[in-house]
Amino acid sequence: MALIGDCIFCKIVAGLAPAHRVHEDDLTVSFLDIKPASRGHVLVVPKRHFADVFGADEESLLRVMANSRRIAHALKGALAPDGLAVHQLNGAAAGQSVFHYHVHLIPRRIGDSSGLHGRALMPASELAETAARIAAALRKSD
Ligand code: 5GP
Ligand code: ZN
Repeated sequence: MALIGDCIFCKIVAGLAPAHRVHEDDLTVSFLDIKPASRGHVLVVPKRHFADVFGADEESLLRVMANSRRIAHALKGALAPDGLAVHQLNGAAAGQSVFHYHVHLIPRRIGDSSGLHGRALMPASELAETAARIAAALRKSD
């Protein structure tokens, strides 16, 4: 897979930067957000680099959506949230900060603040434990 410049998500896809992965297939990688808006905040990312929906190829988008659905079920099973927010931002004006297309899956609890970006890094041990629980729930659904 071609690395695009300094793109952090290309580096994660290529295994050149660390991430707590929950799922991977030939077209996508899904991993925990390093600054989660809530416990279990997952990013679903195509392996091909394109900045946003306007540069997207349909095959990647369809797979990102299919996997978002599967991972949504796994989050429900693993963490029992009250709801689940699905966000996808295009362009700085929309709040996008990493310019490699991605979908956010954010488990929500009643009374949560509804922000999309967390304020603090989550400790690696907590990310690892959460990723393991989600990955186990995904395996159960196979
Ligand atoms: P955007 O604002 O572009 O929709 O969201 C980008 C997300 O990527 C943010 O929620 C941010 O916390 C997350 N993020 C940025 N850099 C990294 C990183 O190096 N690793 C991981 N796992 N997430 C990152
Ligand atoms: Zn990229």
